[in-house]
Amino acid sequence: MKKYLKSIIAMATVSIMALSIVGCGNGGDNNSSASGEDSSVITLATNAEFPPYEYYEGQEIVGIDVDFINAIGEKLGKEIVIEDMAFDSIIPAIQSGKADIGMAGMTVTEDRLANVDFTETYVHTSQAIIVNTDSDAIKSSADLEGKTIGVQLGTTGDTYAGDVTDKVERYNKGFEAAMALSQGKIDAVVIDESVAKALAEGTENLAVLDEPFTEEDYAIAVKKGNQELVDELNKAINELKEDGTLQSIVDKYIAE
Ligand code: GLN
Repeated sequence: MKKYLKSIIAMATVSIMALSIVGCGNGGDNNSSASGEDSSVITLATNAEFPPYEYYEGQEIVGIDVDFINAIGEKLGKEIVIEDMAFDSIIPAIQSGKADIGMAGMTVTEDRLANVDFTETYVHTSQAIIVNTDSDAIKSSADLEGKTIGVQLGTTGDTYAGDVTDKVERYNKGFEAAMALSQGKIDAVVIDESVAKALAEGTENLAVLDEPFTEEDYAIAVKKGNQELVDELNKAINELKEDGTLQSIVDKYIAE
């Protein structure tokens, strides 16, 4: 888990950097590739602010999603080119053809399904609640009602927090929400479970409640209608689930 601490600190200091920008927008052809004619390349849009799924280690983007997509790429004989961007730019990048796929600990939701297709899910997780241990005002999700909740902008935590309070504080990075909570500026943070644990572990007066707020699943987003790519990815995902590769990648980053 120490690894996360370092990466969270790095996240606060490293500015967003596009690793590589391949190709440019293309027309409405559903099977067109972000990499133009080069079908040996898959361009992945991500947001490398989300340990342990994707984050910077020095100049390099690493994490569960990165290892998993590289294993998928290996199976498909395709090179993966990663493009780092804001989380809420990922779906537009897929829609415009700037990226072939999106992977960023991205939860499958009805709203997103209106704009992109998803592969099979590869992680089952939850939205967790981080509290400030200087106060015991929030002991369960029922106590969140009407409280000031910090979230990462445009995430499922953002959506679900809005269901229980009007006071949602939106931050670009989960790290910033955790800092605000630690300083007593907000009452709680709702964010993906593994990220919550990493953030709480790095900060003295923060703790994650045992009770999850909601449950959800991550999958890879693909341009709407590109069933061929979804099928290809699903085949590789299933093989990597069955042969234990996915589990060993998760275990590498998440110490139970
Ligand atoms: N799982 C959350 C979502 O899909 C958060 C993802 C993220 O911030 N990278 O909205």
